[in-house]
Amino acid sequence: MAELLIKNGFVFDPINGINGEKMDIAIKDGKIVESVHEKRAKKIDATGLTVMPGGVDIHCHIAGAEVNTGRLMRPEDHIKDVERKTALTRSGVGYSIPSTFTTGYRYSRMGYTTIMNPSMPPLEAKHTHEELNDTPMLDKASYPLLGDWWFVLEYLSKGDLAECAKYVAWMMGTSKGYAIKIVNPGGLESWGFGRNVHSIDDEVPNFCITPREIVRGLVKVNKMLNLPHTIHLHTNNLGLPGNYATTLETMKALEDLSTDGKPVAHITHMQFSSFKGDGWGSMRSAAEEISSYINAHSHITLDMGQVIFTDTTTMTADGPFEFTLYELSGHKWVNSDVETETSGGIIPFHYKRKNVVNATQWSIGLELALLIKDPWKIFLTTDHPNGGPFTAYPKIIGWLISKKAREAAQKRTHPKAQKRSLLPSIDRELSLYEIAVMTRAGQAKALGLKDKGHLGVGADADVAIYNVNPETTDIAKKYKKVRRAFRDAAYTIKDGRIVVKDGEVVQHADGKTMWLDVQTTEQVKLDEEMRRKFKEYWTVEYENYPVSDHYLKVPCPITVKADV
Ligand SMILES: [Zn+2]
Repeated sequence: MAELLIKNGFVFDPINGINGEKMDIAIKDGKIVESVHEKRAKKIDATGLTVMPGGVDIHCHIAGAEVNTGRLMRPEDHIKDVERKTALTRSGVGYSIPSTFTTGYRYSRMGYTTIMNPSMPPLEAKHTHEELNDTPMLDKASYPLLGDWWFVLEYLSKGDLAECAKYVAWMMGTSKGYAIKIVNPGGLESWGFGRNVHSIDDEVPNFCITPREIVRGLVKVNKMLNLPHTIHLHTNNLGLPGNYATTLETMKALEDLSTDGKPVAHITHMQFSSFKGDGWGSMRSAAEEISSYINAHSHITLDMGQVIFTDTTTMTADGPFEFTLYELSGHKWVNSDVETETSGGIIPFHYKRKNVVNATQWSIGLELALLIKDPWKIFLTTDHPNGGPFTAYPKIIGWLISKKAREAAQKRTHPKAQKRSLLPSIDRELSLYEIAVMTRAGQAKALGLKDKGHLGVGADADVAIYNVNPETTDIAKKYKKVRRAFRDAAYTIKDGRIVVKDGEVVQHADGKTMWLDVQTTEQVKLDEEMRRKFKEYWTVEYENYPVSDHYLKVPCPITVKADV
């Protein structure tokens, strides 16, 4: 493979402590290397440009049954956003739920190279991987939904952690998953009976277990299995006024499980879990309470779940929450009860500037990102497409680096929301170094992806180059220029090949699908038992269930040695 030399750029590589130093980056055989043959290598002149590792997205719904159901449900989302084919790229449609190829191209144009698809019902794993196979330009992985899986509930309620761990290990390999995803723990099982849980100590029907016990149990299982990422958690009572109390309680319930000061849980789309008030009329931001807790503790990482004022599509395994949203909005609604594993719901949603609640949500996401002092603890996401499409990331970067940009957006929002907002009191403007942490380095670190999110020797040669000169640009003032630069990367390099130039795809690439091959001390064979259970409980045959290696277009197993 050709050698590549990126010359003279301003490099932001936080994992290696490099903060805008002018230097060269050498690439050979898809990896970052010490040096290459100056004459032989293809050269990119990055003089006056910003060089970062490729973007990493820890949480975006881009594939699988819920996404595809959203696509089927919303022809209006396709009609307004059409991409023509070019000599190199395929055509596609969709604004908030773009088709697979378009999703890959759009991420790549922004300099992103790795994404995590966060909620995969194991029964729908094959569909998820089919769509990920079809999504070009990106490395990817999926988190199987395990917080309400019957086997997890059964073994945790018996207190049998080792057996629970074996099932989880088996499931990672069977579904080709990467991390334990938990959504509204206990609430999804309750939803099967038209109910929900309302606190972390409510009992889950039929299982004699509480959300607190599920989350604590799975943190312990995660540790026993030595999984690279922590548990990935969507908290109880998400999206409801007053829920910050539940969120704080959840975080407190995990404090003692972090023995080495390292994170034990990632709470996703935190904006949706940071509401004060006892009803929609009194709904307010709890960003101050949440951020002061996070600033004082190190066992939790977060992502924003930033809201964008636009028309989008909400989709989550939190079936009961989507029912609440359906009652509030009256929009068309799909409910999906995924047999004994999880649940799901999808609803179109339009976040409006002049709606007090929506404008407050917009403010909360930014308040969290700015009030939490350490950028390694909170990452940039919209929970795509729940808070808005991922194509809005450059806009969010603008708000994070510039008070002026925030003011310009906020003055168009509902006056009541403006009055309640903490944003006017926050002067912090993030640097490009901090943006590099929040959009790649921090996310890769939290995910335990050792070869991603940095530009040190041995890292995957995934690089983004942006047309921003940090020496001559006051980024807070010129935020619109920065926004444009992050929208249309000057170059995106995937595995050492230039795939985007000046915001246009110039080469097709197939990304890898990463999954965990968790090796337990005794070989786990659950197939026979599963076959029996399938006969008893499920409407599909067991043969439709496991995802074999050859099912993945470019499989990338990561071997993990478990302690059980
Ligand atoms: Zn999500």
